Amino acid sequence: MSIEAKKRIDELTDAINYHNYRYYMLEDPVISDFEFDRLIKELAALENTYPQYVRDDSPSKRVGGAVSEKFGQVRHNIPMLSLDNTYSRDEVAEFDAKIKRFLGYPATEEIEYECELKFDGLAVELIYRDGIFVQGSTRGDGVTGEDVTANLKTINTIPLKLQKNIGYIEVRGEVLMDKKGFKRLNEERLKEGSSLFANPRNAASGSIRQLDPEVTSKRNLIMFAYGTGGYSKEIIFETQFEMMNFLRAAGININKNVAVVKGISGAIDFFDGVAKKRESLPFEIDGIVIKVNDLKLQERLGEISKSPRWATAYKFSAKQEVSEITGIEVSVGRTGILTPVAILKPVNIGGVVVKRATLHNQDEINKKNINIGDGVLVERSGDVIPEVVKVISKGGNSGPFKLPELCPCCGSLTVIDGAAHRCMNELSCPCQIKGTIVHFASKRAMDIEGLGEKIVDKLVEKGLIKNVADIYYLKKGDLSGLEGFGEKSEENLFNSIEKSKNISYDRFIYALGIRHVGEHIADLLVKYFGGIEGIKSAGIEELSSRFGIGEEIGKSIFNFFRTGSNTAVIERLFKAGVSPHIVNVSAYAGYGKIAGKSFIFTGGLKDFTRDEAENSVKEMGGIVEKTVKKKLDYVVAGNEPGSKYDKAVKLKLNIINEEEFKELIK
Ligand SMILES: [Zn+2]
Repeated sequence: MSIEAKKRIDELTDAINYHNYRYYMLEDPVISDFEFDRLIKELAALENTYPQYVRDDSPSKRVGGAVSEKFGQVRHNIPMLSLDNTYSRDEVAEFDAKIKRFLGYPATEEIEYECELKFDGLAVELIYRDGIFVQGSTRGDGVTGEDVTANLKTINTIPLKLQKNIGYIEVRGEVLMDKKGFKRLNEERLKEGSSLFANPRNAASGSIRQLDPEVTSKRNLIMFAYGTGGYSKEIIFETQFEMMNFLRAAGININKNVAVVKGISGAIDFFDGVAKKRESLPFEIDGIVIKVNDLKLQERLGEISKSPRWATAYKFSAKQEVSEITGIEVSVGRTGILTPVAILKPVNIGGVVVKRATLHNQDEINKKNINIGDGVLVERSGDVIPEVVKVISKGGNSGPFKLPELCPCCGSLTVIDGAAHRCMNELSCPCQIKGTIVHFASKRAMDIEGLGEKIVDKLVEKGLIKNVADIYYLKKGDLSGLEGFGEKSEENLFNSIEKSKNISYDRFIYALGIRHVGEHIADLLVKYFGGIEGIKSAGIEELSSRFGIGEEIGKSIFNFFRTGSNTAVIERLFKAGVSPHIVNVSAYAGYGKIAGKSFIFTGGLKDFTRDEAENSVKEMGGIVEKTVKKKLDYVVAGNEPGSKYDKAVKLKLNIINEEEFKELIK
């Protein structure tokens, strides 16, 4: 029995030390916090029964991780203890019962507790001398921490000077990153191709333990204080609550969710209240802290194995759990980015059943070497989408999962765009189509009034529109069945669709929603290349170098026009009568003969269909008119021209034949 116990103590000590290292030093845990606490508890129980086997490197002999070597060391005057964790009402009740036994109080006694939020961040100590912030350190192993003064000074919620002139005080608090900041940081890192932070706690810790304070300053960290270390004699407070109010009055950031309650049932009520508003808080918390309010009692209670006897953390159940990936689905977002999503064996994480978790992109999958069948650690933090933190055991598939080369939504070829795989079929991919149409119809693009997001949603869902060209093929009556669509609004919509056909070329290019092509670049493209034809025939090099727009944009334009479905949609737009024209003709060198000039066709052509001829004019920035008017630049007369020809002769317009037309567009 005792040999068994020794063996288990050794195993647990090694395991906990390893996980401690992963958690604190690498900031890269492989087991859940809950699982980790379970190991600690098992070891503590065994060490209690068999004290002769407690090893010198037992985690019970120290509080946290070792100090990283890159920062100077700071020895805490009073050790920074860690709190004992409880996870259930029974455990919390036992915490209360132990206190009463220790103090010799009757079981019915109601102790006054002070309750606070348990922030999920990095514990720090701030030293103020004569009201001035002089040194800040991390908790480290509880005895010695790292000197991160310069980094802490960049945090706005840490005052550099107190509101009161206090001789000396050590303030203890937690540095954290709010949910928004965390999301933004990971989005930025995704774009840069940097590795992502697993949770806001790791992000806060990584930001503080940064060698460059400049970087820390950009991370938008917050500090909330929860107590003091040592302080000079002139300071007097009798309760934990008074201490918090004292700190607040001195200008130290104290979260408003602090309460004094009567008895342990009061603390449990506080916990229930916090659990309800947890998701709506702007930052992550992992439970509450319950402290004996009376400081004299705190002193009497003292500590036991590096934790105060007078306080406990009452935590929400684990937010990381182990599961298995049963499949990987790839979805396509509104901008064409392919997002891999892991389908999981359902697992309960913090009261929510999680069945799916994001895998971000191919780079992240490669880095974590994730594939179907793998055992994984899954994390859910607040309202953030659950994510796969890491692989714990490899399943049957060796190597990482590969994203498909074809868009799962429309089947067209995807391209690699930064860290993302992207479907380039912007104009017809069903997954992108709503966003594309809304942009196309927007005010600064084609300006089709009445074709907003709601209507587009309905039209796409009803199958009336599959791409932007379909807008021009809607028939009267198509819309009458739609909710909230009367005869009048239908008529208005058709009018604005009709009006939009006569659009300037730069706005037309912008409306196509080519990635990276905003209004300015659309304008440049048209000025230089004339129309679609010119842009289409330009190589990546030419597109990128001409205006110094960079290769990424050049590539995006190039790929757009190499995607057959996109050019097909453009052709259909022209065919429907969309007739973009160039406003400032003098700007075009290459297409001067066509760009901005107006044309009309009459009679049959030998080498072109009418559509082809009209398209080539439009693509080169010319305008195709349907009726003869005084200011026409060219009348192209083919075989057996009709009445338009006669009119043109009467108006003495410039009439050319097919050969001359061919010469013009050459
Ligand atoms: Zn697609």
